[in-house]
Formats: sequence, structure tokens, C-alpha cells
Amino acid sequence: MKKFYLTTPIYYINDIPHIGHTCTTVAADIIARLHRKTGEEVFFLTGTDEHGQKVAEVAEKEGLSPKDYCDKISPRFSETWKVLNISYDFFIRTTDQRHEKVVGELLQKIYDKGDVYKAKYEGWYCIGCEKFLTETDLVDGHCPLHSAEKTVKKSEENWFFKLSKYIPQIIKLIENNTSNYIFPESKKSEVLAKLKAGINDISLSRENVSWGIPLPWDKNQTVYVWFDALINYYSATQFLENKKEFWPADLHILGKEILWFHTVIWQAMLLSAEIKLPVKTYIHSFYMIDGQKMSKSLGNVISPSQLIDLFGVDGTRYLVARSFPTENDADVGIDRFKEKYNADLANNLGNLVSRVCKLGEGLKINNQEVIIDNKYKILINNLKFDEAIGWVFENYIDKSNNRLNEVTPWKLEINDPKRIEILTECAQNLKIAATYLESIMPETSKKILDQLDKEIKGLESGLFPRIK
Ligand SMILES: [Zn+2]
Repeated sequence: MKKFYLTTPIYYINDIPHIGHTCTTVAADIIARLHRKTGEEVFFLTGTDEHGQKVAEVAEKEGLSPKDYCDKISPRFSETWKVLNISYDFFIRTTDQRHEKVVGELLQKIYDKGDVYKAKYEGWYCIGCEKFLTETDLVDGHCPLHSAEKTVKKSEENWFFKLSKYIPQIIKLIENNTSNYIFPESKKSEVLAKLKAGINDISLSRENVSWGIPLPWDKNQTVYVWFDALINYYSATQFLENKKEFWPADLHILGKEILWFHTVIWQAMLLSAEIKLPVKTYIHSFYMIDGQKMSKSLGNVISPSQLIDLFGVDGTRYLVARSFPTENDADVGIDRFKEKYNADLANNLGNLVSRVCKLGEGLKINNQEVIIDNKYKILINNLKFDEAIGWVFENYIDKSNNRLNEVTPWKLEINDPKRIEILTECAQNLKIAATYLESIMPETSKKILDQLDKEIKGLESGLFPRIK
């Protein structure tokens, strides 16, 4: 059986799930489900990133130990994903001792290779990002993602990783079309431009951050949280039974804010440790909310629970997939989500289901298995969900509704062959559409397919009530 291993980033525990985390996780779930459906053995990993200074500070404010704080917050993510019907196979937490052990082993390999050295580092550090910023990262003298007081001057003695040593090799990998791992193309050029501008080594440890994994060769320092976090993708395959053969990952899915760590630093770490590289890294863009950047201070953050309350689980998954920010940021908003839900699901798909089931009750339909077209698979694998869904609607759903409007079977006698023919044809199209949409709306598709098993069954009530 062909194996397929995909990951979401592990989400930083200091945050609560919002539509950004949701879109990455739903995207991964759609891909995981499609790969399972086409007969592959899938390992789908998600989780939480739990070390670092920020976590220690928040825990202290709440009067909890960092570990107790993490134990309290991590389920916010795992439980949200369960509600959203995310079919992850394992939820990794970086405070898992089995992960910590693999981190130590991997870093020891990098040390043994001679790829680390101790040096003094001074620079601008963003406490929000938990990273040193370069001069080009700074906007108005501070981190563009966080407020000015989060950017502080920091100087300390750290262990450094010889990142620069691996840059020529990484450039070669990216420039060669057969080994390029960065998608989409625009992100590849962005990374290459930065690599060619010259790259310094990077510190891999922290001196005064106790909430972290101690360095195997210097217990006074802890592993920089980013190194610790990246290793999760590998560590899960090492400490879980029967998952070893899933490495290397086939697909890392992530948002553009963490592109650099995943496409350069992670690769360099693996090259140094002589571990196989992940096959493909897909970087998506962000959501804008009604034309503005989503931010806590603007109060426009959309949470998954808000969407689920309005649109249900499958409605939420559908809307997220339909508006997925691939290469460019996607502008969304609750009102536009309502419009889209009503247009696509209530009026179009929902209407087709109720027409076919009401008018065609009792009609036999053929039981042939629906084979998923390669074109659809390629679109899904490239996170082009909008295009993939659009293709299904155009070819099977819109087409059937149009045909029904033309033939008007509700005006024909119940035994009229024309009536039987059109309803059987539409039921068949609906069955194909539901099979395609199963990875996006698993429960709804299952309900539709159950309605169309062997014969058309009458449907009691609509699947998608209109939303006001
Ligand atoms: Zn920042």
C-alpha cells in the first residue's frame, strides 16, 4: 500500500484556534481524506508547540506551572479539531517526553557532525515570534507581526548552528525542478532571493529560558523553541510504533509567516543530521477579514466555533475550502460566508438533493463505484480547493439543476420515460458530486450517498436550510 504522510504546523499554545489555524487544518484533512479514499495508507499529524519563554510567562501570570498550563490549553486545539471532524492520526505535543528524547538525539547528531559552535549573539529579538529579527525584518524598528514593546535588544552567549554551510546545497535543491520542494512557485522565488542575499548562522539554544529541552551537551542551555518544534514532524514517526517508514513527510502544509523556518532551517537541520528531506512544502497565504488584517486589537478574529454555530461542521469546512487563501490573501467576512452558503449549499446543492429525492423516490440507480478523476486529485493536492469544488459544481450540480429546469419533470406523469430518465441521470450526477465532495463535507456526502444507495429514497427535510 502506498504511504502518504502529511502535517500541519504544530500550533503555538499561547494562541486560541482561529480561522487561520482552521484553514490549514481543514486543508490537510481534505487531502488526507482524499488520499485514504484512493487507497493509500495515510499518516496525518497535527499538534501543539508548547515550549518557550512566552508560554512560561503566561503560565506564571495564571499561577500555573508551564506544564499544567499546557495541559489546560492544548485540548482547545485537539477538541476543536475533533468537532470539525478532522481525521488526524496523531496529536503531538512537544512536551511529550518521547518527542523530547528524539530532539536530543537529532541535535546530538548535528553536534557530532561539527555543525555547532558557541558564540555571543546580539540583536533585535521579538518575544511574540520567539526569534531574532534581521534589519530587513524590522518595520518601523519593530516586528511587523507584533507590537513595538515585544521587540527587544537581546545579547547572550548561545550555541550556533552552521546554517550558512548548507545554503549552497539548499539553493541547488530548490533550483533543480526535480528536487524543488517549495510550492507554490512564487514562494520558491521569494526563498531563493533571500538565500542569495546571504545568510548568517542561527543560534539553536537559549541561555535564560528554562521552559525548554536541555541541550544534550550543555545542560545550562535549552533548545531554541523553533528547533524543538520543527523536529516534531520527524519525532512522531520515530517514537510511534509502525510509523518509521512514513518518513520523509510527503507534504508539510503551512502559512506564509513560517515559511523561512520550514523551507530553509528545517532542511539544513535534516541535511546536517543526514536524515531524508520532506518531499513537498506547501505555503498558503492569509485571510483578510472584510478588507482588514485579522487581529485581536481590531476585534475581527473569526473563530471556528463562531463558524460552526452559524454554518454547521460541513458548512464551515466547505466555506473554508471554497475561500482558501492559496497564493494570495483571501478576503472573507461573515456576511459573504452567508451569501456563499446560501447560494452554493442551500440553493444549489441542497435544492438538487431535495428535488431528486422528492421526485425520484423509489427509482433504481446503478451501483457502479465512482472513480475520482485525476484532474480533481491534482487540484486538491495543490490546495486549489475553490477550483476543484467549482469543477464539481459545474459538471454535476449546476448541470443537473439546469437540466431539471429545462425538462421540468414535476410537470410530467409519474411513469413518463422522460421523467424517469432525467431523474435517474440527475441522481447519478448527484452521487458523483457527493463522492467528490466527501473529503470536504464528509457527513453531508455520506447522507446524500445513503439516500442514493441502490434506489432513491425520499428525503424528510432539506440538508442546508437557508441562513438569514
Ligand atoms: Zn513578532
